[in-house]
Amino acid sequence: MTAPYIVFAAPDIQDAEIAEVEACLRSGWLGTGPRVARFESDFGAWLGLPPSQVAGVNSCTAALHVSLIAAGLEPGSEVITTPLTFCATVNAILHAGLVPVLADVDPVTQNIDPDAIEAAITPRTRAILPVHFAGRPCDMDRIMAIAAKHELVVIEDCAHAIETLWKGRHAGTFGQFGCFSFYVTKNVVTGEGGMIVGRDAEAIARARVLALHGMSKDAWHRFGDSGFKHYQVVECGFKYNMMDMQAAIGIHQLARVETAWRRREAIWSTYIDAFADSPLGLPADVEPQTRHAYHLFTIDIDPVRAGISRDDFLQAMHVRGIGTGVHYLSVAEHPYYRERFRWDPAQWPHAQRIGRGTMSLPLSPKLSDDDVERVVAAVRAVLNGNA
Ligand SMILES: *Cc1c(COP(=O)(O)O)cnc(C)c1O
Repeated sequence: MTAPYIVFAAPDIQDAEIAEVEACLRSGWLGTGPRVARFESDFGAWLGLPPSQVAGVNSCTAALHVSLIAAGLEPGSEVITTPLTFCATVNAILHAGLVPVLADVDPVTQNIDPDAIEAAITPRTRAILPVHFAGRPCDMDRIMAIAAKHELVVIEDCAHAIETLWKGRHAGTFGQFGCFSFYVTKNVVTGEGGMIVGRDAEAIARARVLALHGMSKDAWHRFGDSGFKHYQVVECGFKYNMMDMQAAIGIHQLARVETAWRRREAIWSTYIDAFADSPLGLPADVEPQTRHAYHLFTIDIDPVRAGISRDDFLQAMHVRGIGTGVHYLSVAEHPYYRERFRWDPAQWPHAQRIGRGTMSLPLSPKLSDDDVERVVAAVRAVLNGNA
């Protein structure tokens, strides 16, 4: 009997989510309504923000796009971000009519390097878009100081960082906007989904309008039981609203956010102990006064020391029934950006090396102890040349 395939980042869906989705379907209200309002208010409470500073949307990509527009930057402004991110970060900048500028990561933390940010500033720079990579917080003291000095907007990509703290304060609450993802592989799941949080309730109100066609009142308020209300289109918005069906899942996922985090922390420690004496590069220690969200456990494969290339390692894990991930090939490796901006990945050598040399192991709270043992055994076998 072969053991079932371990899917990378499988979501942990439980009975509470299933019952809430069923109740939502039976209620007849599938679209944006009371469950989204509750999820927004619960998510705000998790971060210590009032509901007026939180807006649910249908993805983190949408959250980034809307935030970049709501930030009110003039077209063609430069936005500094990391090359070690998902393409959505850069696409959102482009869709907002802005110009992405990459600043390399610190090779140890794998987060955007504040010195590289400073070096990338030009007279056209208007914003910084840091990504809290793998759930490790960026140095928000330095980033906010650079932003203050140069009068730049900060928008945080918190797709990995729901639980992340920097000196006791939640990632996403430092910049003008913080953008979260509830995609199936993320730490809180709604299928597709995202959240925009902000320091300023008025800016979030504008983000909310932008995320629903530019309409001044959302459908729930229009078609609720308080009588008919005309809507007004006040700007050219997008169709980015979150549905109650999605929020139905998110409400119960969020209620277990701490339990799921503790489970991932335990798996993380198991991997650290298991591979301490191996030739693999392991994630850096968690910095004091911070909380890591443990979203990705990324190992660094030096082909000379490990005796196998990263890509052969990925394949060897797959053959052993274990799904892994690559986070990420440097943005500059992709042909679209390379051709459009004449980027060469070697301009950002740390991101290039990490993208070509690392691999993420399964870290889902759904993994059983046996699953975790299978992952450890597979990594050891591959390292011992039993690929
Ligand atoms: C997943 C992810 C996104 C996009 O999130 P969606 O909700 O899928 O749009 C953006 N940035 C980073 C760093 C991500 O990992």
